[in-house]
Amino acid sequence: MIAPLPFDNTYARMPARFFTRTPPTPVSAPRLIRLNHALALHLGLDPDWLASEPGLAMLAGNRLPDAAEAIATAYAGHQFGGFVPQLGDGRAILLGEVIDRDGVRRDIQLKGAGPTPFSRRGDGRAALGPVLREYVVSEAMAVLGIPTTRALAAVTTGEEVFRETILPGGVLTRVASSHIRVGTFQFFAARGDMEGVRLLADHVIARHYPHAAAAERPYRALLDGVVKAQAELIAQWLLVGFIHGVMNTDNMSIAGETIDYGPCAFMDHYDPETVYSAIDRAGRYAYANQPTIGQWNLTRLAECLLPLLSDDDDAAVADAEEALGAYPPAFEKAYQAGLRRKLGLVTEQEGDLALGRDLLDAMAANRADFTLTFRRLSDAASDPEADSAVRVLFADATAYDSWAARWRERLAQEPSDSAARGAAMRAVNPAYIPRNHRVEAMIRAAVDRDDFGPFEELLAVLANPFDDQRNFSHYAEPPQQHERVLQTFCGT
Ligand code: AMP
Ligand code: MG
Repeated sequence: MIAPLPFDNTYARMPARFFTRTPPTPVSAPRLIRLNHALALHLGLDPDWLASEPGLAMLAGNRLPDAAEAIATAYAGHQFGGFVPQLGDGRAILLGEVIDRDGVRRDIQLKGAGPTPFSRRGDGRAALGPVLREYVVSEAMAVLGIPTTRALAAVTTGEEVFRETILPGGVLTRVASSHIRVGTFQFFAARGDMEGVRLLADHVIARHYPHAAAAERPYRALLDGVVKAQAELIAQWLLVGFIHGVMNTDNMSIAGETIDYGPCAFMDHYDPETVYSAIDRAGRYAYANQPTIGQWNLTRLAECLLPLLSDDDDAAVADAEEALGAYPPAFEKAYQAGLRRKLGLVTEQEGDLALGRDLLDAMAANRADFTLTFRRLSDAASDPEADSAVRVLFADATAYDSWAARWRERLAQEPSDSAARGAAMRAVNPAYIPRNHRVEAMIRAAVDRDDFGPFEELLAVLANPFDDQRNFSHYAEPPQQHERVLQTFCGT
């Protein structure tokens, strides 16, 4: 029996040129690796049904419920700065939308579900390793409170995919508040299809920026909304040491969620120039470049919206520039507020940003671990004896000492007591992030030895990133020299 899933599809009602109707290609021997029970319940889906034979058939793309309307969506995008007028879902198929318990519409999409008319030369498939990586990292981001797509399920297909080597195939069920990207707007704008741009903008306003509908100028309000959402998102990334890795315009969600976990990684020791992605040779998407790239991508979005902003070209450009001008202050506001919280500061003072920057500079000069430094500062905030645990993270510990003296002077001017401060800091400075070497070891175990124990354990630890977990303290440690993973791959 096929359970009646509560699909309520709106994107499939858009004009035909927005997508192709493409069913997933069945796989030979699907096996459920993991179902995200809590997320299923939140989506109003029955976890028992999803884990049953017909549920697995859906998650593998073998048999779809009647209410599913499988589509591959069209989009374009700037990849590493070069425009590609047609990309589209080459290996992802949208099954439909559901309304979650909060009343939010969510896309349910299979990633790795077989070829589509947008596959170009690709096979439409995903290797198991990247599926598990996306599952772990996207779920970790969600618990860290960072807007992100989610992982509902991971399955293996029983089939091989051919990359540099032969790898087991997998399918990830991705949940997103939508899969509309900056590149989706570019797809229509590049064709001169302004009717398409307008219909898409109206859809996005209704779905993600409903307040814009009531604004005096809805399309300007839409642009303002995306600018703000992206500025705040990228500030969040920086505050946890996250590097997206491929911030192409087709990988930038219009809803402001982190999307498309490819060669992404969290950095260990703090270095603003950090790049992990093997294909990012010029470091375009390095950690510290992310805010600037965000603005570059939003400028591409604004270009698409120009004709909607005003009939007068000059007025439209001035309007777009004004909207984009709000990005740097919005980013700075979110970043500085977050940095203050990381340092345990509740009040605002003039020198706070400099204090934060000086710590980061000292960390960079001394290769201090990003996550551990802030985590251990949370203890040092209430107990100067805990300084010793922070000092050892710095190649030259005296660099920390001189900074810590200034920090304590500043903390003395705060109204909150030190115990409350420590607790507040521990709630924003995680102990556990998906460290690259742990993610890599988890993938190796699953792919080379069919051992999903490390995957499950990593997920369990990362489910409570702000708690000290005594039995898993090793997961908080940076890699030893021989464990370091310096490069990541899209793995597509
Ligand atoms: P990504 O690097 O994952 O953002 O993908 C960039 C583009 O390549 C998108 O249009 C994808 O749909 C497409 N793509 C990536 N991997 C594959 C694949 N294995 N088969 C077909 N298309 C793919
Ligand atoms: Mg992509």
